[in-house]
Amino acid sequence: MWQTIKIIDFSYGHRLLNYEGPCSQPHGHNGRIEIVCESNILNESGMIMDFSKIKSIIKKFVDDNWDHKMLLKREDPLLNYFLEKGEKVFVMDENPTAEILARYLFYFAKKQNLPIVEIRFHETLSSIACYRED
Ligand SMILES: [Zn+2]
Repeated sequence: MWQTIKIIDFSYGHRLLNYEGPCSQPHGHNGRIEIVCESNILNESGMIMDFSKIKSIIKKFVDDNWDHKMLLKREDPLLNYFLEKGEKVFVMDENPTAEILARYLFYFAKKQNLPIVEIRFHETLSSIACYRED
């Protein structure tokens, strides 16, 4: 069995509702995503999947939707403010926690037919949320 990990770094803003702690205030993180793919078969090039293909699929989603954007829960009163100001916001049905973002990206990757087994979402250097199906 082979496993590959592609890493993508990006920056995002968010805040969490129904939570008492630093992330209840609007703020930003330098996030890191680890895209873990797995297969017991290699293609004719000797790869699970070309790292550059994995990167281009996930990085395009991240650049278009999350990088340098505010991620807010739909009920967040800040949402209207950002929309009225024409700011780019990524709206979510759940709190934009590292756990929820990891799961979101996992299913996005799956829909793109990546041989994904896990997403590791680093909110900070020392705080990582992982999502896998089993
Ligand atoms: Zn935070």
